[in-house]
Amino acid sequence: MSVSRNIADVLQRVASACARSGRDGGSVRVVAVSKTKPSDAVKACYDAGHRSFGENYVQELIDKAPTLPDDVRWHFVGHLQSNKAKALLEGVPSLAMLETIDSEKLANKVNNAVPERRANALDVMVQVNTSGEESKHGCEPADAVKLARHIVDNCPRLRFAGLMTIGMPDYTSRPECFETLVECRRQVCAELGLDESACELSMGMSGDFEQAIEMGSTNVRVGSTIFGAREYPNKA
Ligand SMILES: *Cc1c(COP(=O)(O)O)cnc(C)c1O
Repeated sequence: MSVSRNIADVLQRVASACARSGRDGGSVRVVAVSKTKPSDAVKACYDAGHRSFGENYVQELIDKAPTLPDDVRWHFVGHLQSNKAKALLEGVPSLAMLETIDSEKLANKVNNAVPERRANALDVMVQVNTSGEESKHGCEPADAVKLARHIVDNCPRLRFAGLMTIGMPDYTSRPECFETLVECRRQVCAELGLDESACELSMGMSGDFEQAIEMGSTNVRVGSTIFGAREYPNKA
């Protein structure tokens, strides 16, 4: 398994999906999701020229970030408990994007946790539960407008960057989930007076990132196709 070959292959597939759907190849960001993988695997991908990486456990990211170069663009893609917001923002001062804001309470906590010394507002996405499963985090699709508006109006240290969803685990049921997110963007942009280009869509993982791009995704989160299957020694 070669990480450098795998990332090159994923970028090629992204370029092809963009071409097929008449989109500019530069319009899609690949976030290489490195959770459970050691720093040297991340470094191999970095050395191949990649800069955007994703993690979904707070402590793992806090431990990993200092072992990698400063210009890594870290995306936090996991569920964030509001009492961990401060640890995340202080432990990872260069955090590029937090993709999983799913309540006003969390937005407020994160807003207050952004250190004064940080030059720019923190880019955040609103996570939407498009599959209706209780086990999935994210706000209801009907609440996305309200939450996005709350961020724009009340959280000056956050910049609303777009919408994120996980969807269903099996690809065949996903198109509906992705369609739901596209519809959420339409509503958010109409209600907040934003251009659609100002509202990213984070959708698509290893099993379906090409389909997601064809449906308009601007940010795909790809883990196992780049780093290999994950092992969870103590977690289900
Ligand atoms: C783990 C994870 C991914 C990557 O999943 P793969 O199927 O391995 O590509 C993407 N998004 C989130 C939120 C994840 O937790």
